[in-house]
Amino acid sequence: MKRISRRSFLFNASAGAAAMSLPAIISPLKKSQRYDGKKLNVALVGLGVYAGILADGLQSSEYCRLAGIVTGHPNKAASWKAQYKIPDKNIYNYENFDQIAKNSDIDLVYVVLPNSMHKEYTIRAAKAGKHVICEKPMAISVKECEEMIAACKNAGVQLAIGYRLHYEPYNLEIKRLGQKKVFGQVRLIESSLGYPTGDPSQWRLHKALSGGGPLMNVGIYCLQSARYVLGEEPVSVTAQFGPNTNPELFKEVEASITWQLQFPSGAVCNSSSTYNCLIDRFFASADNGQFEMSPAISYGPFAGKTSNGPLHFPDINQQAAQLDGIGKLILAKQPLPDHITGAEGLKDMRIMEAIYKSAQTGTKVSLV
Ligand code: NDP
Repeated sequence: MKRISRRSFLFNASAGAAAMSLPAIISPLKKSQRYDGKKLNVALVGLGVYAGILADGLQSSEYCRLAGIVTGHPNKAASWKAQYKIPDKNIYNYENFDQIAKNSDIDLVYVVLPNSMHKEYTIRAAKAGKHVICEKPMAISVKECEEMIAACKNAGVQLAIGYRLHYEPYNLEIKRLGQKKVFGQVRLIESSLGYPTGDPSQWRLHKALSGGGPLMNVGIYCLQSARYVLGEEPVSVTAQFGPNTNPELFKEVEASITWQLQFPSGAVCNSSSTYNCLIDRFFASADNGQFEMSPAISYGPFAGKTSNGPLHFPDINQQAAQLDGIGKLILAKQPLPDHITGAEGLKDMRIMEAIYKSAQTGTKVSLV
């Protein structure tokens, strides 16, 4: 019952999460095997729909706990304080946020704001001496990503991007199948994600806050899957905007966009991301077989198969898995792997800028 009501809630409450259902919460470890040492204290910034899902993940996380919140709404501060037992000294608003520097109860700031606010709050968190996880897309331009990376480097803090699928078993398996060439060289990938949207007031439709349309919001996952299945970086891109199906709604951002990435091995990835219809799938064709998933990118449960038969993996809590993967390394004072850091967010941003440039100019854009 809970699953159905939360799913309905997501469809009603958030355009961004609208295509996604909630994960079943399955802990892979028995209680006696669970880590019970010091946890990383996390403050969530921006208490919207995805922050609520992260708060659920934090309740199941072994290595992280929800210790603080930053919100522009006192009524949300009061309800989160009561629900998660957050002390007053760990509750901030956007004006007094910098005082978090003096709060030794917060180790990491998780930025879950509209995309154009990611840069400012990542840099303010870094200057306060806190590690940062910033939601995808990392920012709204390459220049902003570079400034965020420099600020975190200068402050000596780690910067992760909220790439939850790097901890998800089905996506880890397609990465292994592609990179280990289990079915030979992958030649062709199709990876698309989209959902219908309708609320004209949402920030995702306003370019100043979103930076762009479905490409920035969900197409980024398609770029990611092509890059991690091939283990290569694209050398060029061609792209086309879809028709504007609702000029009243899509005044500032694209309604849909289709693109083709060319890779050094000769592999090609075709992708679409859209606010017009529901699509969530990944397909790869290699020399000796194929592998595919649908759903592939949302919160699961996922389904997939290869030329050898169906794939079966546990339906995990992706947010808890991501927080544990990051929290464990930060607690051990170890560097985060490149593929979940700001360096990865910057690579995706560079490709997205090239996709927009190609769609606007009608030309192939080189990435080398
Ligand atoms: P929401 O609109 O649900 O929440 C955003 C929150 O940001 C608001 O509730 C508000 O919090 C705060 N905010 C501050 N200023 C503004 C403003 N001008 N307009 C709107 N909100 C503002 O967005 P989501 O939670 O869906 O998305 C937030 C981020 O998380 C995005 O970058 C998105 O791409 C990412 N995301 C990632 C997902 C994933 O699977 N990794 C899934 C969904 C989203 P308050 O009222 O507390 O101030």
